[in-house]
Amino acid sequence: MGSKLTYDSWDEDYVHQLQNGFKDFVDVIKWAYKEYEEKMIYACSFGAEGVVLVDIISKINPFAKIVFLDTDLHFRETYELIERIKEKYPTLNIEMVKPALSVNQQSEYYGDRLWEKNPNLCCYLRKIQPLKKVLTNHDAWMTGLRREQSSTRKNINYINKDDKFGKIKICPLIHWSWEDVWSYIRVQQIPYNQLHDQHYPSIGCEPCTAKVLEGTNLRAGRWINKEKTECGLHT
Ligand code: SF4
Repeated sequence: MGSKLTYDSWDEDYVHQLQNGFKDFVDVIKWAYKEYEEKMIYACSFGAEGVVLVDIISKINPFAKIVFLDTDLHFRETYELIERIKEKYPTLNIEMVKPALSVNQQSEYYGDRLWEKNPNLCCYLRKIQPLKKVLTNHDAWMTGLRREQSSTRKNINYINKDDKFGKIKICPLIHWSWEDVWSYIRVQQIPYNQLHDQHYPSIGCEPCTAKVLEGTNLRAGRWINKEKTECGLHT
């Protein structure tokens, strides 16, 4: 295939062959930046997998564009971590992407604490819509998803046809375990969210993230007591 792989030019056989040819996650990331250059972004949540991927990417493409979906509802510790990451990797282009509505405006239009009454709508307004807007000018996006994170993620591949956004989604860390992630963080001494040391393995917006008990599913603290398990970016 001579031309760039895009959502519209998706070819199952070609992608299958391509994926089988990757030696490891580094190979995937190198291929992705060569294939898409400025037309790819890394959407980082700055969780444990997120900071690992930031470090790996910084060694392959020190000027990579990274976006954080800043809902204005994240923990103070998450914003502090982003500042520490910016200091450690000054050449990376880290952009805070905001929703169209402030939290107050959202309350005016849809009622107070929308995350309690209708978390799917809240995630749509504060995460999905902003990412959709950013991706308008891009062909591909990268994420730190891992297969073992949840049953909804067990079938993800290095390269995915993302019907939600009409783009290519690259997931270099699919084969990493939770132990792999933490071993990398410790050995490379990467800044990480301090909440991870306080029983928050998976960290999202403050109103929708709770502590989990030792030995519980890593994402059990997200949207606790609700049927929702994903923000909708990956479903
Ligand atoms: S995680 Fe919660 S607060 Fe954040 S956008 Fe989704 S519903 Fe809203």
